[in-house]
Amino acid sequence: MQDYIDFAAKNGVLLLKSGACQFCGANTKRGIHECLEIFNFGFGEIDFSKKENHMYKFLMVDAHTLQHPEIHGRWNNHFHLSRLHLILKHDVKWSYRHSPMLSNYLKVYKIDKQNEYLIPPEVLKRGTITTTDILKNTKNASDRKALIFEWATEVHRTWHSSHHVAETIAKEFLNRNKSLNELI
Ligand SMILES: [Zn+2]
Repeated sequence: MQDYIDFAAKNGVLLLKSGACQFCGANTKRGIHECLEIFNFGFGEIDFSKKENHMYKFLMVDAHTLQHPEIHGRWNNHFHLSRLHLILKHDVKWSYRHSPMLSNYLKVYKIDKQNEYLIPPEVLKRGTITTTDILKNTKNASDRKALIFEWATEVHRTWHSSHHVAETIAKEFLNRNKSLNELI
């Protein structure tokens, strides 16, 4: 996925080729490029084909995206912060079929919110846990899952100035889908 290079260019951000990740501070040698490789590799150890592990996939995708908003489209912030909010604050047991439901609701939501931008926390202030910590500081699947949960919780916290937006989206999303009686 080379889209991230295009998104960075569109956002006027120069991607550094060496050193620590310029966005999250991960202890890399090739910056964001290596940070993304580690993330895309999926850290190993965790069997994501098992349903009970799907949650960790959502948490890591949300955490990584929100630590690196400069390499994504702006509405991705709404999606990933709201999903994280639904999982962490509303105890929703997220599954793969819920993601398109949230995307569909956001399509409706954004019609009247074209000027709504979520302002990310400053670079390097989006949580202290990064991809390299998860890869290097954990030994087995259980450790990795625990650290991914902490990572997502920390990143969510750093986006506190946008929590009111995530809460509004989460409440209306739950309200619209309560007849399904399956999200909580
Ligand atoms: Zn990074």
